[in-house]
Formats: sequence, structure tokens, C-alpha cells
Amino acid sequence: MTGTAGVVQTSGNGEQAAASVWDIEAIGVWKTFGSTEALRGVNLQVSPGERLAIIGPNGSGKSTLLKVLATLLRPSAGTARLAGLDVQSQAFEVRRLVGVVCHQSFLYSDLTTLENLEFYGRMYRMPDPSERARQQLRLVGLEAHADVLGRDLSRGMQQRLALARALIQEPPVLLLDEPDTGLDQRWAAFLVDLLAEAAGQGRTVLVITHNLERSLDLADRVAVLNNGKITFTAKRDELDVASLKEAYLHHTGAVG
Ligand code: ADP
Ligand code: MG
Repeated sequence: MTGTAGVVQTSGNGEQAAASVWDIEAIGVWKTFGSTEALRGVNLQVSPGERLAIIGPNGSGKSTLLKVLATLLRPSAGTARLAGLDVQSQAFEVRRLVGVVCHQSFLYSDLTTLENLEFYGRMYRMPDPSERARQQLRLVGLEAHADVLGRDLSRGMQQRLALARALIQEPPVLLLDEPDTGLDQRWAAFLVDLLAEAAGQGRTVLVITHNLERSLDLADRVAVLNNGKITFTAKRDELDVASLKEAYLHHTGAVG
């Protein structure tokens, strides 16, 4: 297994440390698209160093919630804060704190894997963007694909590159929308280790997955989002696969 040492080390960046409590908070968040109410008053808190997994049926609002927290969408009502910073009025500061993986890869298909990571390393003003990019390629096992264009990577490799990109600036908060998509067994296990290590370093993780069983490996707490509302949360320790499936069925009417 590729080691994760050094991936998410604290950079010691004084600006980042302005708020040293990197929690995630949503208070009564609504998001409407025309007549669609994607989020209907989401209340949520993720403590520093905690990993929260969100599960829920298609269209329940999971990606919308993540995008609101990542400042990619403005909430229609309510408040969301990361490390005490308001996602609307302090969006620029929030963006520096978060590593995001979502359906939009933020990768350039006509740049190579290495060039993609160098680009983001420079954007985040890493001291040595090329070295940092190579370090991240090693992390996700893509060093032999350094010169392959983004568009020529397999789906799973693109997802690994997206993870490497999200972690490049050593963000204290990770917002990950189905980061396990396309990953084979080995890399799904790597993701589990990566998030455990990130939490061990005090980083705060919100991860969406459609895989109920995997949510138990990825997180310390699991929440069900159904029809734009959080309807269930429980600590990992209080759950096993059977009880989570039962709760999911009860709260969504769907079999997970
Ligand atoms: P999930 O990630 O849980 O599958 P989404 O957050 O992607 O769900 O979507 C929640 C609802 O909001 C769905 O009904 C979806 O069609 C709608 N929706 C999401 N994004 C948009 C958008 N940009 N414009 C219009 N409707 C949207
Ligand atoms: Mg989604």
C-alpha cells in the first residue's frame, strides 16, 4: 500500500491558522433550483478531526450540500460556516481551507497528470510545486503516468488524480463527493486509510458515498440525507451493516 505520510501535513501557514478549529457547520440551509427544493433546512455539525459520511438516495441533495459548503453554490437561505468562516461572505478564505473532490474533476484534459498537479501547486503557492506534484503522484500511484494526458487516464486513475489535486495544498477540511467512484478494491482501501490518517492529523472530513457498507469504513459518524433533510445520524460505534441498512430503509424507503 502506498504510504500516505506527508500528504496532509499541516503547512504551518499562519493565515490558515487564523481559526485553528476546523469544523463544518450548516444551520438551516435551503437550496432551491426553480421549483425544486434540493435542500430543505439542513442542520449539520462536523467536529474538528471527525469524519462524517453522508448517504442518501439519488437526488436527495447530497452533492448540492457539498457544493454549498465548498462555496460552489450559494445557499438560498440559512448559513454555513467552515472553521467559523461564512461560505458566502468569506468564500475566498473558505476556498483556501478546503480540498474538494466532486463530479466536476477540476482537471485539465489536455495537460498531463504531472502538469495538472504542478498547475494547482503553483496556484496554491506551494514552495516547490514540481516536487509537490511528484510527491502527490507517488501518493496516488500515478508516477508511471506522469506524462499521460488527463483525458487518457482510466476513470479510477482520474479519480486518484482528483484526490491528489484536492490534497495538494494540505487542506484542513476535506469535502469529498463519492471519491470512491471508479476505485478498485486496492484504491478503495487506500481511500479508507487516507481519511483515517487525515482525521488522525486533526483534519475534518465530509464524505459522500453511495456505498452503505463503505460509509462505515470511511467515517466516525454516518448521516442519512433524504429529500433535502438530514433524517438520521449515528456514530460508527453504534452501527453495523445490518442496523445501518435498516435505518436507511426506515428513513428513505429505499433499500441501500
Ligand atoms: P444527490 O447528490 O443526492 O444525488 P443532488 O444534490 O445532485 O442530489 O440533486 C438534488 C436535487 O436538486 C435533484 O432534484 C437535482 O435534479 C436538483 N439539482 C441539482 N443541481 C441542480 C441544478 N444546477 N439545476 C437544477 N436542479 C438541480
Ligand atoms: Mg450527487
